[in-house]
Amino acid sequence: MAQLSEDRVAFGGELMSLERVQQRIAEVFECRAGIEQIEMCAAVGRILAQDILAPVDLPPFDNSAVDGYAVRHQDLDARQPTLLPVHAKTFAGHAPVGSLPPGMATRVFTGAMLPKGADTVQMQEDSEARGDSVLIRPGLARGANRRQAGEDIARGQCAVAAGRRLMPPHIGLLAALGLEQVGVRTALTVALFSTGDEIVEPPAPLLPGKIYDANRAMLAAWLTRLGVVVRDCGILPDDANLTRERLARAAESSDVVLTSGGVSMGEGDHVKDAIAAIGELTFWRVAIKPGRPVALGRVGGTPLLGVPGNPVAAQITLALVGWPLLDRLGGATFEAPVRLLARSDFAYRKKAGRREYVRVTVDAASVAKRYPKDGAGILTSLTETNALAELPEDLTQLAPGDPVRCITLAWLHG
Ligand code: AMP
Ligand code: MG
Repeated sequence: MAQLSEDRVAFGGELMSLERVQQRIAEVFECRAGIEQIEMCAAVGRILAQDILAPVDLPPFDNSAVDGYAVRHQDLDARQPTLLPVHAKTFAGHAPVGSLPPGMATRVFTGAMLPKGADTVQMQEDSEARGDSVLIRPGLARGANRRQAGEDIARGQCAVAAGRRLMPPHIGLLAALGLEQVGVRTALTVALFSTGDEIVEPPAPLLPGKIYDANRAMLAAWLTRLGVVVRDCGILPDDANLTRERLARAAESSDVVLTSGGVSMGEGDHVKDAIAAIGELTFWRVAIKPGRPVALGRVGGTPLLGVPGNPVAAQITLALVGWPLLDRLGGATFEAPVRLLARSDFAYRKKAGRREYVRVTVDAASVAKRYPKDGAGILTSLTETNALAELPEDLTQLAPGDPVRCITLAWLHG
């Protein structure tokens, strides 16, 4: 905690915990996306706009889970095999001929509708045909191998809740319920800027002091994977007036503005001050490393997120702060990443009061190996690893063999 107050004195601002940041986002911002009807086949990755109530039972009727013989359980002898005459045969896709007469069996195949009266199925591997009859073993449980109507989802139940990002299993469920179209949220438009006098892009040559723009292409790639429409606004020079003007203009014609760089306290950093000057700042300091300076606010009603310039910090803050924001604005329910437990093979010391994300490779034995270079600008620390070890605020020392929670990059990669 000593570090926290030190930071406040040094930089004049509160460090906000990641949980509080996510809470603030939910308090301050609302969904800005509209609703459109689209074909189911185009819905993967889209955000469901309304709860989908099952229009039918799933499965729609009692059916057999196996190839076998459908029987009435009450006809079976609990202690010895029961010989039952086979009265009919039902294939999948065909209605049974009448109900199952007491004391008889029906030959059924997987997915076939059970005749009325049948409540149990013995699989064919366990069955012994005797002429036109079949031997049913003792001990078959009532309801064995029967799939009950509505056991997956009953008619009227919520099959998929509004806000869910539709993944292939959801598409499968909705298709099984007979839906052809689905109401989803329209895509948000994000105006994307890089900032900095040092940033150039090809074909400009790398003159002394210049570097190529990593962030715009990278952030655009992230956003595209999230289903957001990216408006490329180019590179903003480190100029206070120009920063205010261009951010204000971008805010007029987009749902969100996203910038990288220029959010710390340096003389060349103008994004945070621009938000405060032409709009309002919700917060700008988060208790995480890398990524402490993150500015979130609003300009003319449009949310504006400024992530740090260092590419690793930019990606981590986009994931930890940007995802919940974009989910909120886009109408999606934010789901915090799953943390996997691994064992560290490294020693690490950190300051208390902020959460640190150490780039690691978790192997098949769940051992987390630290990437040797860990600066916030080391791009290979994300291309050559597969997880972020999350070291909590109160931890100051990690020893080899200690358990460590990790967020897999597969989560970040969407
Ligand atoms: P800043 O947050 O503007 O102080 O930038 C922090 C560091 O990130 C500096 O070393 C910048 O040169 C670098 N940086 C800022 N923007 C980019 C970018 N778009 N691509 C690559 N590096 C960047
Ligand atoms: Mg800069």
